[in-house]
Amino acid sequence: MILPPRPQNHRPLDRSRRTLDLPVTVDPPPPQNRPELDRFAVPPWNPRSPEWLAIEDSLPADHRARAIDEAVDQLDLAVLFASYLGVGSKAHRPDLMLKIALYEIQTGHHSPDQWAKDTCDRRCLQWLGLGIAPSRSRWYAFRDRVGPLLETFHRQILEGAVAQGLTTASRGSLDGTLIAAHASRHRLVNLSRLRRRLEELDRVIAADKTRQDPGPIPGWMARHPATRQRQRYRFREAQRKLLKEHARNARRPRDQRQDAEKIVISTSDFQAALGRDKEKVFRPLYNLQVVQDIESPLVLGYEVFAQATDAGTLMPLRQRAHDLTGIWLKEILADAGYASALDLFDCAQADVQLYAPYQENDRTEQRRAQRPQRQIPKSEFVWQAQEQVYVCPQGHRLTRISQETRERAEGRTVEVRTYRCPKEHCQQCPLARRCTSSAKGRTIKRNEHEDLIVAHQAKMQTPEAKAIYRKRGQTVELRFADAKAHRGLRRFSGRGLERVRIEVGLCVLAHNLLVVRAAGQRKAADGQNGTSCQDAA
Ligand code: SF4
Repeated sequence: MILPPRPQNHRPLDRSRRTLDLPVTVDPPPPQNRPELDRFAVPPWNPRSPEWLAIEDSLPADHRARAIDEAVDQLDLAVLFASYLGVGSKAHRPDLMLKIALYEIQTGHHSPDQWAKDTCDRRCLQWLGLGIAPSRSRWYAFRDRVGPLLETFHRQILEGAVAQGLTTASRGSLDGTLIAAHASRHRLVNLSRLRRRLEELDRVIAADKTRQDPGPIPGWMARHPATRQRQRYRFREAQRKLLKEHARNARRPRDQRQDAEKIVISTSDFQAALGRDKEKVFRPLYNLQVVQDIESPLVLGYEVFAQATDAGTLMPLRQRAHDLTGIWLKEILADAGYASALDLFDCAQADVQLYAPYQENDRTEQRRAQRPQRQIPKSEFVWQAQEQVYVCPQGHRLTRISQETRERAEGRTVEVRTYRCPKEHCQQCPLARRCTSSAKGRTIKRNEHEDLIVAHQAKMQTPEAKAIYRKRGQTVELRFADAKAHRGLRRFSGRGLERVRIEVGLCVLAHNLLVVRAAGQRKAADGQNGTSCQDAA
């Protein structure tokens, strides 16, 4: 058994039932050992209902709904049941709703609105949910209810997988992808336009309160007074965020400042970052980061960031994987976006082996081969640690001339020093044409973590590191391909960081549940202990 045992009244799959002459009844069986079910509405069908049996007969044995049904039954859903107060009208059973939601997510339907429609139309969902048909608003409420509990379920699955030896959860492959937010890229506004709209919105809302005719309503404004209140809240939050962005822009050096009129925001989803996606389209988006296990198809950690780059996400993802598995990652495979000097420093502090090219990508080698080297590379200058100088190929010393503090993600900074060779040496040097075009002499920059950078670059040149790094393309890249091509995760359905996190959390939950179930089935079939779940994806 990989996960906690099933409830005692769990309905096992009974393949022989079709041949039995069972009494047909629509009366639900009394719940046994499941007192929590008393507090919920009785589903229209039970496993003896003719409608349910008719679908059961037609559902293939390997249908994904059956897999989801079995996998969710193995989860301990006590926190989900306990999240209902049990007052007011009886709610739909949350275990059935979770099964339907996970099946929908697995088949690329991410919107609760779609779940409401599909529950009425799709027979496999009726089978999964014993005929329940929650309304659209109940589905939206369920999504928001289950969100904070997802971490508990993830922990159950991953800790169970570790306990069963499916993974050590200590080696992960990390990558991120940009996913479009549920907001139009054609409706971005700058601060001055947003202020004008807020003034107009205030005027119409004041008229709403006094029940006066507000006059013509502009096309961008919500039609209903209650919706206008929510719209004003969003606009005010967007204005707050834009003001922060303007303040940040003002702190930049004058030559790096952005034109204030071009600093824009989406009013539909003000939390979304703005950036260019893979197709180079400028739009509101979120950055989905995933830690994929190297030993199995399990996802060990995930997070969604409202930023367009991967900078500063390495350590938060390591922490996230630890939160879900209880185990620290000791080996991380990532691309060059995660191997900044500060990342190397953090990894050294945390005793993590990072396998990532430093400031290189897939096209670097190709570009190097095509383009002749323009300058004698920095690697040919020898660092003299004791004297704190570089020595050039001609044996001259480059001494420190300046130091600057560069801002990095999360408000962190890094010191960069500049070293220069005296101009009198460079001007007479036979290598000058290949070395520098500056009349003041060749300069070299040195990061405060340069020793770590050099050691990392040397490590990445070893055959062992290259062999380990090759696994990155076989792990996390496949996960994103699957998420986008088969799970429909090209555009989020919900708005706001919290909702997109729930959406991703449900995707990961469905995936990990199926991986663990498949591994358990293989293990049972093989009858061998310690079977890898690598092949079970
Ligand atoms: S150009 Fe200057 S720095 Fe470069 S090799 Fe010659 S002397 Fe050294």
